[in-house]
Amino acid sequence: MKDISIFGSTGSIGSNAVKLILNQKDDFNVVALTGGKNITKLAEQAILLKPKYVVIADHKLLPDLIDLLKDYEFIISGGKEALLQAASIPVAVALQAIVGFAGVECSIVSAKCSKILALANKESLVCAGSLLKQICIDNNTTLIPVDSEHSAIFQCLSGENINTVDRIILTGSGGPFLNTNLSDLLDVTPEQAANHPNWNMGKRISIDSASMFNKAMELIETYELFDISAGKIEVLVHPESIIHSMVGFIDGAIIAQLGPADMAGAIGFAINYPNREKLAIERLDFVKLKRLNFIEIDHNKFPAINLAIDAIELGGLAGTAFNAAKEQTLDLFIEGKIKFLDMFKFVEIALVEYKNNKTDHYSNIEQVICQDQHTRNVVYKAFESLTHD
Ligand code: NAD
Ligand code: MG
Repeated sequence: MKDISIFGSTGSIGSNAVKLILNQKDDFNVVALTGGKNITKLAEQAILLKPKYVVIADHKLLPDLIDLLKDYEFIISGGKEALLQAASIPVAVALQAIVGFAGVECSIVSAKCSKILALANKESLVCAGSLLKQICIDNNTTLIPVDSEHSAIFQCLSGENINTVDRIILTGSGGPFLNTNLSDLLDVTPEQAANHPNWNMGKRISIDSASMFNKAMELIETYELFDISAGKIEVLVHPESIIHSMVGFIDGAIIAQLGPADMAGAIGFAINYPNREKLAIERLDFVKLKRLNFIEIDHNKFPAINLAIDAIELGGLAGTAFNAAKEQTLDLFIEGKIKFLDMFKFVEIALVEYKNNKTDHYSNIEQVICQDQHTRNVVYKAFESLTHD
């Protein structure tokens, strides 16, 4: 039996993981479950999985959670410190599935205290990739990506020499606006943007998929995870989301990983690593599928990818600046304060500002947090000056 903790268990990835673990009850002993605000779901999950620790990140909700679980003997706590404490309990597997920058520090702690860090929180690699990787090396922790594309690339690279790779083809569905004209993107709403054609995901990542900021984040994630130059990473639109990504080698061979658009595949792969276990997910029927399509990305319509390449070239904490600006503009878009296409403008402003105040080397999480705060302020000021004009 492996000890496992799930951070962000009440979210889309977390709930998927809970389902998988309920089907593999003999394989896992759940140590900690954590949620952000949804105490009802967290309590339900705790009753089903019987973890030792239950943590709610929003401290104000702790009394209500304690009340919901008064008949049980879990150790219940709340707040950010409690979350980091839970991450510091040694486990075989830590699944980091908190959304956004809020998950980065928790991943850093898990990298020190788990044998396998199953990482869904892509912000950890985008904002603090080199730090996270170094901590994994220092602590002998194996980092297994949960993002479907990176899980695919990881699987394609299994047993291969990274020096024989000449391209990584990162596929993306193109999101709900693949066939929408640029002019029609001007007035799209957060609800339209969150309506992903293939994947059932949390609201923020779904909107990021519509703007291609998700694919842009994944480009940086690929660069950080696989130590490959940005020039060797290609982004390819593949509307069916069947090929989760591909790796091309110097002899011209290409290895692809395929599967249904179901995150259970990548989560199950990561939490069971290095074994493969039977997973209750749909099996592909190629005769029914008939054909797979591929389309070149339209950089005019989706400038996010080129902004990510800028961030990689800037180096240092540019990934943190990129993510902070993206998260801040996403909030403004969700609140109806800016338009869909404005998000690109603000991220560009943030990267220009970062270029003028660069941090070439960083070595601790405090510097990452400081950059995140700084860039959020930059974006907010830019937004305020724009609305006052
Ligand atoms: P989600 O919004 O559905 O769930 C996020 C989880 O984080 C919830 O449990 C929430 O309560 C918790 N949380 C939110 N704010 C928090 C805070 N401040 N402190 C502590 N916990 C907090 O998100 P999701 O779609 O499951 O995505 C989780 C992560 O996985 C993201 O980084 C996302 O980019 C990545 N990811 C998701 C998918 C997917 O299919 N959903 C695919 C690939 C990668
Ligand atoms: Mg992905």
